[in-house]
Amino acid sequence: MNAVDQLIVESFKKNPILGVLLGVLMDGGRVVSTGPVASELLSLVPDILFFEQRDPGAISWFEDFSVKDLIFVENQSVDFLWQLARSTGAQVVLLSNAPSDESLVDYRCEEKDLRSALLNLKPTFERLKEFKGQIHFDGSRLNKGLFLDRDGVLIEDLGYVKDPQDVHLLKGVVAGLKKARELDYRLFVVTNQSGIGRGFFNFSTYEKVNQRMLQLLADQGVFIDKVVPAPYFEGSQYASGLVRKSLRKPRPGMIHSVVADFRIDLSQSIMVGDKARDLMAAAVGGISKCYLYKTKTSDEEQKSWRYWPLISRTGMDLALPEIRQLEEVFGDQ
Ligand SMILES: [Mg+2]
Repeated sequence: MNAVDQLIVESFKKNPILGVLLGVLMDGGRVVSTGPVASELLSLVPDILFFEQRDPGAISWFEDFSVKDLIFVENQSVDFLWQLARSTGAQVVLLSNAPSDESLVDYRCEEKDLRSALLNLKPTFERLKEFKGQIHFDGSRLNKGLFLDRDGVLIEDLGYVKDPQDVHLLKGVVAGLKKARELDYRLFVVTNQSGIGRGFFNFSTYEKVNQRMLQLLADQGVFIDKVVPAPYFEGSQYASGLVRKSLRKPRPGMIHSVVADFRIDLSQSIMVGDKARDLMAAAVGGISKCYLYKTKTSDEEQKSWRYWPLISRTGMDLALPEIRQLEEVFGDQ
């Protein structure tokens, strides 16, 4: 048990609300008061705890909060607690000594417990502050990601593939992905799919092609953590094709979209693409290990990379390392 665990667990045993508040502070969560008693008490420690006041009558705000956050409620009706529990993953503390259904609130405490927790909060948090940002209460460490373009890297690039029968895995893909798994990489496919925005096919057609690829991989024991498509096309007639332009490579949106959910450390991650723009997205996004999958047009791609105005900021070479099979990424690791 490390020092952080020890201090938080001890605090929790003394006073659960103190332990929970320390967790919220260490996690960078938010504290919400919905009543006068919590608001008055929370105001006692303005230098350490910022809290928000919300109207318990206006329920639309519930979903703004996540499991990192803490909401204090006071003597609320079962209906209110039910709505709250259905709408948010936030932790809920009921300030009351009346019994309540354990499926509706996480903690119950009295005014004196909250007062005592707040009095002890500052000195305890001072001892923990230096570890802030380094600890994760879900017990996981950060993961490495292998980010892959789809067409021309995983499957044959036939241009706007819309028939599942046209999905053919490239040579060496399965072995490369298995190697990546062995080395603990999470696997992500980030694929520009402007064919959706252009109206060449719709989401459900795209999804059939995607499922076919995932099935071919699964048949050989490879499972992808997440596939993210970018349907954007400038001038699209469809709303889904126009909004979220940042997903489209060379913008890094697709890469960033998995970081929080999968706890990805981009500085330890790898991108493989067959176009310079795949690797520009990676470089902008914070990935520094990039490989160009060799194709007939690789020379052109190398040229685009070399002349990319932002290249001096990437810390990468003027020439992208090229691979002919996915496994080469891992060399003799
Ligand atoms: Mg490609």
